[in-house]
Amino acid sequence: MAEVLVLVDHVEGKVRKTTSELLTIARRLGEPSAVFVGTGFDAAKETLARFGAEKVYRVESPEVLGHLVVPQAELLAQLVSSTSPAAVLVPSSPEGKEIGARLAVKTESGLITDAVDVQAAGDGSGVTTTQSVFAGSYTVSATVTKGTPIVAVKPNSATPEESAGAAADEVVDFTPSDAAKGARITESKPKQATGRPELTEAAIVVSGGRGTGGDFSKVEDFADSLGAAVGASRAAVDAGWYPHTSQVGQTGKQVSPQLYVACGISGAIQHRAGMQTSKTIVAVNKDNEAPIFELVDFGVVGDLFTVLPQATEAITAAKD
Ligand SMILES: Cc1cc2nc3c(=O)[nH]c(=O)nc-3n(C[C@H](O)[C@H](O)[C@H](O)COP(=O)(O)OP(=O)(O)OC[C@H]3O[C@@H](n4cnc5c(N)ncnc54)[C@H](O)[C@@H]3O)c2cc1C
Repeated sequence: MAEVLVLVDHVEGKVRKTTSELLTIARRLGEPSAVFVGTGFDAAKETLARFGAEKVYRVESPEVLGHLVVPQAELLAQLVSSTSPAAVLVPSSPEGKEIGARLAVKTESGLITDAVDVQAAGDGSGVTTTQSVFAGSYTVSATVTKGTPIVAVKPNSATPEESAGAAADEVVDFTPSDAAKGARITESKPKQATGRPELTEAAIVVSGGRGTGGDFSKVEDFADSLGAAVGASRAAVDAGWYPHTSQVGQTGKQVSPQLYVACGISGAIQHRAGMQTSKTIVAVNKDNEAPIFELVDFGVVGDLFTVLPQATEAITAAKD
């Protein structure tokens, strides 16, 4: 069975959930081989094995991570050439998409970004993906017709399923070219911890809009009762009520959680573009004609300052 390369997303060996999702998807297409760059492999190995990685191609050189994304694209190109994989899967993050694009150019292959589903093609060759395009107006199926399929997959596109793999450690002999070292990372500061999951990876996102009037406390309480990340509409972040890094939408973050709850958000097309692929969508809005109700699975017509505390109380009670 052909290998499927999965670029591991991790912090010092702590493997992100997106990687277990990619390994789960990789098993549909062939034999998963993880590509691990950086330090902390001993910590990562157990997770990679648990989610089915048969091999782990490993590069520990500080040069690779010290020069933005270009060396990682070169490394993947070297592995594509030596392993002829059935596909390469990368996270659909800004870095993942840039690595995928550079890899596609280097290997003269087709690239698909923002996939929300990936399956083996019906005829047994290649892969078929599903994406939401044009601000969520269309859902399309796509396939790569040239070279090695390179697919950038959105977080939460698969439920991670465990399946023991050997995670056989293969140290790769790799030296980035001089051209790949053109830009160097000089400083990297950790993000301020909020205690909540990362917005683009969270299984549940609760977002607030102009309807909060600037008071996000009820949105945050509700999010915390669910273990969710907090998002915001552009109207809310432009008003300075919530950080810009929390903006969901066309010019903000793209999220695709299992559950998205929009509170006091009208549902403008630019907001939808960032959350329309969520599996279940719930809205709380006091205007029963708000456009957001056109795309929800469940809608609550009411004042968020009345509805959210009740919902928080009910969820907290159910957990006790
Ligand atoms: C180029 C461009 C890019 C853009 N990119 C983005 C983007 O990335 N993300 C984004 O979000 N927007 C984006 N926008 C802005 C977008 O068009 C909307 O203006 C914005 O999404 C509106 O935010 P909102 O829904 O919070 O506010 P509003 O549209 O003002 O809606 C507020 C809603 O809250 C409801 N409400 C009020 N009080 C309560 C209450 N107490 N309880 C319950 N409901 C209440 C109201 O009924 C209303 O439906 C972009 C616009 C442009 C032109």
